[in-house]
Amino acid sequence: TCALFPRNILASKQLLITAGPTKEAIDPVRYISNHSSGKQGYALAEAALEAGALVTLVSGPTSLAPPDRAEIVPVTTAEEMLAAVMQRAPGVDVFIGVAAVADYRPAQSASQKLKKTGDDKLTLELQQNPDILAAVAGLKDGPYTVGFAAETENLEDHARSKLTAKKLDMIVANNVADPGIGFNADDNQATIITASETLPLARMSKQTLARELITLIAKAVVKEQP
Ligand code: C5P
Repeated sequence: TCALFPRNILASKQLLITAGPTKEAIDPVRYISNHSSGKQGYALAEAALEAGALVTLVSGPTSLAPPDRAEIVPVTTAEEMLAAVMQRAPGVDVFIGVAAVADYRPAQSASQKLKKTGDDKLTLELQQNPDILAAVAGLKDGPYTVGFAAETENLEDHARSKLTAKKLDMIVANNVADPGIGFNADDNQATIITASETLPLARMSKQTLARELITLIAKAVVKEQP
């Protein structure tokens, strides 16, 4: 823990966080997924716990040790993640969608292992997954909603469009163009965007970024109170 990190800034607040990738089955032995490690989401859960929050972490498959005092809800697919989140989101103060949710899943998941055919090419039909973050942001009287936007170019423009399109309160635009930051790395470089502010941050560890974010979220949530 960091001596400078303010404790209790989120005392008794309920946070719901998604982390990690989702895995979408093609058949019993194959899947579509991505390189998300879960590190940033788990670091946020830790930072929120340090800040005194009650934390539920809905996690796709990762190799990380879960934070001790968080409630962990393990899921595999985007649809499972959506169900776990929508069951809990109406009652929480803050939702942070950090998971790298697969945008598409196989339209059909085969019940038996697919065989090679004689053909050179194989076409896999994909079906779009639900947008979990947008679903939470669309709730009436829902939580303060924070999204992530992994971008390789025009970081700020793309992220600001997502903030508006998904009706979020805050978006964390993270640069995934350079090796060493973003996906699977220990460091991150992000710009934090709200309707009224743009805060570009230096490259830092995912733990440090998590504490910065929790501090900003706490300020916003406390400000929102009557
Ligand atoms: O649109 P894009 O996938 O870049 O948005 C990223 C943000 O949306 C992340 O916060 C991610 O957790 C969330 N997301 C989601 N459900 C999806 C796709 C993305 O919650 N199906």
